[in-house]
Amino acid sequence: ARKYVVVKRFDGLPKRSDFEIVEYELPPLKDGEILIKAEWISVDPYLRAFHSAFTLPYDQFSVQVGVVQESRDPKYPIGTKVVSHKGWCDYTIAKENEIIPSNNIPDTVYKIPDLKGLSESLAVGTVGMPGVSAYFGFLDICKPKPGETVVVTGAAGAVGSLVGQIAKIKGCKVIGFAGSDEKVNWLEKELGFDKAINYKTANIEKGLKAAAPNGVDCYFDNVGGEISTIIMNQMNELGRVTICGCISVYNEDLDKLPKGAMLQPMILFKELKVEGFIIWRKFNRWNEGFSQIVEWIKNGQVKTKEHITEGFDNLYDAFIGMLNGQNMGKAVVKI
Ligand code: NDP
Repeated sequence: ARKYVVVKRFDGLPKRSDFEIVEYELPPLKDGEILIKAEWISVDPYLRAFHSAFTLPYDQFSVQVGVVQESRDPKYPIGTKVVSHKGWCDYTIAKENEIIPSNNIPDTVYKIPDLKGLSESLAVGTVGMPGVSAYFGFLDICKPKPGETVVVTGAAGAVGSLVGQIAKIKGCKVIGFAGSDEKVNWLEKELGFDKAINYKTANIEKGLKAAAPNGVDCYFDNVGGEISTIIMNQMNELGRVTICGCISVYNEDLDKLPKGAMLQPMILFKELKVEGFIIWRKFNRWNEGFSQIVEWIKNGQVKTKEHITEGFDNLYDAFIGMLNGQNMGKAVVKI
């Protein structure tokens, strides 16, 4: 079998030499274990974000879709399609209800949700971890009401593109920020965003003021940093903010970032509710999100897009491409 091992501490954007591809022999299966052959492997921002929590060297974790090749768990017969958290490896052994000891991330395995004929790759995307992050992160925390104005950053990515579409389903006005004109075009023309803004070229403050003259009620934050301060400054009283991610600082040394007092006054004076979440905590509710999202896709209310890279050897390139914004929709690797 082959797997990617992280052998060096990332300094800024991860380098190819920070990873090694290791060939190794898999041991025979023990009771309760299954052997999985990977078919789709996910590349996600959290692989960068959580990096410093891990002791080197470590196997690169991430969510993958695979097929059971051998089984010593009767619940998972040979041929079963599964989602596991085994990461960047072509073959792996897994077991239900394992936990990665170092940070409590479930090293979990579950049967692929009922996708009603949709592509199985969606089980690492819109009908997977990013999908439920959008679903629960937005609905449980922002609690959007019809007619409200919702802003989402990272809007053309896996999570953001779904958040915007859910907000439209809930009857909101939706404004998205993304990093290219092509993305902006896709959000407005295909996904029905009321307005999309290229944060790399536009004046963010003025652009938002023009798009949301009555202020912002809900903000789904995927990126953090300065843009989020600007957006939160335009929020209405009693607005709600979901802190889903802060990709703009994942390549930075957090200890060296300026410790400003920019956010606290606006949270106080506008009485904002600001809440972060880590989606694994809601793992027991994922199926609830999956069935609703599949229904929305099937009835045409949610559109999905994937940025597919082919080949196990191209996982690193797919990962860096995603961090650099090359993806529209979910970045995924076909093995
Ligand atoms: P995306 O599919 O959105 O891919 C990442 C995108 O981030 C890129 O395409 C790029 O798009 C954008 N980006 C990169 N650098 C910057 C920057 N400096 N400023 C602004 N945007 C940037 O990834 P996901 O949808 O999987 O994840 C989105 C966010 O949600 C991430 O922050 C991630 O960590 C978080 N997340 C959190 C979860 C949780 O449990 N809290 C679960 C899942 C995801 P662009 O061209 O627009 O710059």
